[in-house]
Amino acid sequence: MAIYQKHIECMPRQEIKKLQSERLVWQVKRMYENVELFRQRMDEKGLKPEDIKGVEDLSKLPFSYKQDLRDYYPYGLFAVPMKEIKRVHASSGTTGKQIVVGYTQKDLEMWADCMARQISATGGDENSFVQISYGYGLFTGGLGAHDGATRIGATVIPTSSGNTQRQIQTMVDFGSTILCCTPSYAMYLGEAIEEMGVKDKLKLKAGIFGAEPWTEDMRAAIEEKLGIKAYDVYGLSEIMGPGVSYECEEQKGMHVNEDMFIPEIIDPDTGEVLPEGESGELVFTTITKEGFPLIRYRTRDICSLNYEQCKCGRTFVRMNKPTGRSDDMLIIRGVNVFPSQIEEVLLRIGGDVTPNYQIIVGRENNTDTLDVQVEMSDKIFADDVKSIELVERKIKDQIRSVLGLGAKVTLVAPKTIQRSEGKAKRVIDTRKLH
Ligand SMILES: [Zn+2]
Repeated sequence: MAIYQKHIECMPRQEIKKLQSERLVWQVKRMYENVELFRQRMDEKGLKPEDIKGVEDLSKLPFSYKQDLRDYYPYGLFAVPMKEIKRVHASSGTTGKQIVVGYTQKDLEMWADCMARQISATGGDENSFVQISYGYGLFTGGLGAHDGATRIGATVIPTSSGNTQRQIQTMVDFGSTILCCTPSYAMYLGEAIEEMGVKDKLKLKAGIFGAEPWTEDMRAAIEEKLGIKAYDVYGLSEIMGPGVSYECEEQKGMHVNEDMFIPEIIDPDTGEVLPEGESGELVFTTITKEGFPLIRYRTRDICSLNYEQCKCGRTFVRMNKPTGRSDDMLIIRGVNVFPSQIEEVLLRIGGDVTPNYQIIVGRENNTDTLDVQVEMSDKIFADDVKSIELVERKIKDQIRSVLGLGAKVTLVAPKTIQRSEGKAKRVIDTRKLH
């Protein structure tokens, strides 16, 4: 596979470190001058920009948090005058006010490079037809992938999300070779393609799926249904959007675009940087962003970093797929539960159930309840009640062994759980309503 910017993506580690140091010093200085909140936090720590001489001083710097974006809504953290901001994006999140991010022209170009590196890593080039089935709009998914596909010179098919029948018709008629969307929508498209019986007519070779966590089993299911190689892409709008890190053909972790973002792994409770390879909260510092830069931003994603040389030739560090978000984590009867753990159990059950499920957390008599509803496959739907009960029992047992928690498991009829065309709503926590 071609490497889009080999001179950067395969840079010797020493040189990456040197480049990061120069850029960090530049960023800290300009943020100190232009971003009031950052200046205040530096002053509180008794730090001046000149105290930061390189990446080795990174851990001295103050953290930044999602709450900062809400407190300084909408433009209070921007580091350039508004006339230099050429685009804004926003994300609603599940609670509270939306957050707003801004990009200068140079920021937009660097973002396009991030996504071009990803598309290239999946075999994409000017001969590719890239169908963008992420939502366009304030959400960074659609336009982020769009600009990357344009940068690489591909033919862009900007379908946006929704209207599944037409998506698939477009995919077949226009000869899409690369699909970009959320993994849950890829799964949904895969099912619809099976129903329409058009899998043989697809020219798809690869898919780039991000914006929500997904498991290796789900990857296998998508690859099978769509007949493609499925790549994971990571990003968050606070840092850039999709393409902060990207997967190569090895599919063993996502290369972080380290010429633009410095990753760290910290203990989420103490804030201490953890030794190499350990799992903890992922923190990013943006060292090239002009419009809306962030120093040591707490992503709340839990993962680890792998500095071993990758077989693909890229030298950028790889981050493992986040195992969950510390703020999406559910606490049920005192146990930490990531929805992805339940998903993994379901996917391991195999053919009797589908990966369409919903987790309902409630409270009865002051005790948390955990209900898992899973769609059964057509095959078992036709079976007798007894075999359905057997599968329910099996799932229940495995959830207990993985989480140490009892759950009520119900198999529901095929296609009865509501489908989503954007991010799947997997968890309903009714405890928050009381
Ligand atoms: Zn690689």
